[in-house]
Amino acid sequence: MRLISGHYVFTGREFVRNGVVEFDNAGKVVSIGSLGDSVIEKERTEFFNGIISPGFINAHCHSELSHIKGVIPQHSGMTEFCKSVISYRNSDVNEQVLAMYEADKQMENEGIVAVGDISNNDLSVKMKKDSRLIYHTFVETLNLNPNLADENIAKARTVKQNFANAGLRVSITPHAPYSLSERLFEMSVAEGNDSGILSIHNEESFDEMELFAKKQGKMRDFFGNEMDDFLSCYDNPLHRILKYIALETNLLLIHNTHTNEQDFRQTLTRNRKTTWVFCPASNLYIENNLPDVNLFSKLNAHVAIGTDSLSSNTNLSMMQELKILDSTFPATGLQTLLRWATLNGAEALNLDSELGSFELGKRPGALLLSDIDFKNMRLTTNSKTTRLV
Ligand SMILES: [Zn+2]
Repeated sequence: MRLISGHYVFTGREFVRNGVVEFDNAGKVVSIGSLGDSVIEKERTEFFNGIISPGFINAHCHSELSHIKGVIPQHSGMTEFCKSVISYRNSDVNEQVLAMYEADKQMENEGIVAVGDISNNDLSVKMKKDSRLIYHTFVETLNLNPNLADENIAKARTVKQNFANAGLRVSITPHAPYSLSERLFEMSVAEGNDSGILSIHNEESFDEMELFAKKQGKMRDFFGNEMDDFLSCYDNPLHRILKYIALETNLLLIHNTHTNEQDFRQTLTRNRKTTWVFCPASNLYIENNLPDVNLFSKLNAHVAIGTDSLSSNTNLSMMQELKILDSTFPATGLQTLLRWATLNGAEALNLDSELGSFELGKRPGALLLSDIDFKNMRLTTNSKTTRLV
């Protein structure tokens, strides 16, 4: 049994001043209160200087790309980024697996308890089985040649089965509206609709927006004329997703760097369970740009946060992502940001019965967030995360 308290407890939804959470030996929440309550045994309470939060949910990562750390130049744009990732895909397998294990450790140390992780193959099965974190693996499809669509989906199903055989949570998802033939895109979204969950990169870059709006530009030049069939049908990448999405599928839209209010409202008419996932450090890395976070706050959007992979980030720290959002969009407020980093991510990944908030019976983990500016309820450059439970 442990009784843990701090200046504030963030429950997953709100701050409780001088809150106390009691955990049993298995890490299950057995009571929640505050230091003012007479029933709390104060002498057994461990008091920490900071905010006590449930464990973070990293809603978007590619652990498979961890070996590409620090090699792709920053701010070179999406097309150049895609070229580089493709060129590093065939690196030494041992090196790739080792880098995945290190990334997993780093996430654990940074207070992450669950990850929505994109995988193109089954190299990460063993790491995920060995990990203390809970992974939902999205087996990603990606190919512009319509003649290979059946082969691609069959391969994705085999990879999915390999994760499932290891007892891991898994489903199939398309990479992005610009990188699949119409047939493969339609089949992949259908697989996700059947599983009830999809995670698709959306409106991430200038190059992608230019490709759909003008049917030309860097991305069209790189990927070639196989795109022309579907490009004539859509003037915006999101429209391709909305054509096939089912109303009740958990839809994680990743990045949304170029999403506007009209896109948001159209999405509401096609899907009831959209989560807008922001990966700000990755957006800054690739094209030095950020989504319109104030707009999403104003619209009361269901937002979660991801680190993306080490190929487009310097580390896998949710605290780093929160600092970028808090310093760039101070109107959001720390309470909202922490909800995005905890409960909303758990809801998006269907893990909220166990994780994301301090509620009786859950095992969400507990973090100490220290070096907080309590006067303004803001993070500071020194704010850091320590795992307590
Ligand atoms: Zn990604």
